[in-house]
Order: sequence, then structure tokens, then C-alpha cells
Amino acid sequence: MSAFIDARTVPEGTILQPDIAIVGGGPAGISIALALANTPLRVVLLESGGMTFEPNTQALYNGTKTGVSYLGLQASRMRYLGGSTNVWGGWSRPMDPLDFEERSWMPHSGWPFRLDAISRYYPRAQTLCEAGPWLYEKAESWSPEQGPMLALGEGGVATRWFQFSQMRNSVLPTHFGERYADDLKRVRNLSVYLHANVTRVGLAHGGGTVDQLDVATLTGRRFAIKPKCTILAAGAI
Ligand SMILES: Cc1cc2nc3c(=O)[nH]c(=O)nc-3n(C[C@H](O)[C@H](O)[C@H](O)COP(=O)(O)OP(=O)(O)OC[C@H]3O[C@@H](n4cnc5c(N)ncnc54)[C@H](O)[C@@H]3O)c2cc1C
Repeated sequence: MSAFIDARTVPEGTILQPDIAIVGGGPAGISIALALANTPLRVVLLESGGMTFEPNTQALYNGTKTGVSYLGLQASRMRYLGGSTNVWGGWSRPMDPLDFEERSWMPHSGWPFRLDAISRYYPRAQTLCEAGPWLYEKAESWSPEQGPMLALGEGGVATRWFQFSQMRNSVLPTHFGERYADDLKRVRNLSVYLHANVTRVGLAHGGGTVDQLDVATLTGRRFAIKPKCTILAAGAI
């Protein structure tokens, strides 16, 4: 059994040396931790929040925003196990090739890889999101009981299919923390630290690798992780 550890109980000055440290227990961090289950690797997952919403931890997301108008920072990211899936809508569909391309009219657009670099992982993600079978944009998989398909032609309007995450025995979309907590606890090579805020990512000489993560709790406890490999999954997108 893996351990869920309250970081506030970790002795001051502790230094942990896992093979892999995952920063952030949202859907990205949880999915990676589950993918590494029962490998020879010793994995640590560091999550800022606990199992439920806590105002003082959520307040760490306070800030100002600029640019395109969007939900306030407090409403658009959740800071406890499961991350923003604690409030997400469950709309699911793969990205389009165009999403990865540089567009001259959009500053900072373009990804360093293309859709085909990640497309083979989509079915696994779909399963984790509990979003049903993989049926996107395939007219042959559409059955008449699902209603008429929109017959849109060439031009700026196109049919796009979404599927909806739906947690078992419930109408809610999958909240990753609640849904996968027991699975995480069953992973023998994993330790999940809750209330563990990574406050510094220390780079090794030359800047190419991470050599230390500093961790702090809101109660003032401090300790460090010296992992061989670090995965930042603290909510970038
Ligand atoms: C209201 C709302 C509706 C949405 N609806 C949809 C939808 O319908 N379909 C869809 O595809 N997407 C939707 N999203 C977006 C989706 O929820 C996110 O894209 C997704 O949760 C991102 O996952 P993530 O793991 O990258 O980050 P997050 O979910 O943000 O998780 C990051 C985790 O890292 C932790 N963390 C942050 N900083 C630190 C730190 N310093 N140290 C340790 N831990 C840290 C946080 O506590 C959090 O648990 C919605 C989001 C919101 C807010």
C-alpha cells in the first residue's frame, strides 16, 4: 500500500531521494502516478492541497491577470487533490492538428511537437476521464438512436463531437482526486504528500536538470526532495 502523508507531519529538514517527483496532484499528476504504478521506480507526488477545498490553500492561487478576459483566478484553478477537475465540466475531445501549429496572427502560438506525438495516449486519457468509447468524428460509429447527425458542408462551420466525462454511479464528471484516491493508495511504490507546496525548483549547475525541490507547508514546516527526475504537473494549461 502506498502512503498518503500529511506534509505537516514530516520532520523539519527531511531530505527525500525518490527516483521521480511529481509536482501537482491534478489529472496530469495523478495520471502519471498511476502510469508508474508497480514499476521499480520510487515515486513521490507532492500536492499543495489536501483531499478537500481549504480556503487558506486556495488563497495561494491569488494573483492578478492580464490579457484575454476569463474567469477569476480563484474560480479557474482548484488547489487540492484532483486539481481543477474538482470543478470541471467534463467536456472531452482530442485537440485538432491546427492547435499545435504556429499561426502568424497569434503571438506565441505553436507547440514544439505535433498532435501525432501524443495521439496514441488519448484513448488512455479518455478511459481515465470516464468519457465513454472513442467515437470522435466517425460517422460510421453514429447510430440513429443518438439523433440526427448535423450535415454541415464546406465552409466555416463544421460538426465537432464532444463526449462527457461521467463518474460511475453519478452524473458528475470525474473528479480525479475523489475517483482515484483509493487507486493511488494501492500503489506500493508511491508516496503522496498532501499540503506539500513546492516553493522552489532548484536547478543543477548548467541549468539542464532539477537537483532539488524545496517544500513548505502553511504551518511553516520545510523539507526537500532530491529526485533523479522531476515532473512538473502543477497546472500549466
Ligand atoms: C470551471 C472549469 C471548467 C472546466 N471544464 C473543462 C471541460 O469541460 N473540459 C476540459 O477538457 N477541461 C475543462 N477544464 C480545464 C481542466 O480542468 C484543466 O485543463 C485540467 O484540470 C488541468 O489539469 P492539470 O493536472 O494540468 O492541472 P490542475 O488541474 O490545475 O492541477 C494542478 C495541481 O497542482 C497543484 N499545485 C499547484 N501548485 C503547486 C505547488 N507549487 N506545489 C504542489 N502542488 C501544486 C494544485 O493544487 C493542483 O491540484 C475546466 C476548468 C475549470 C476551472
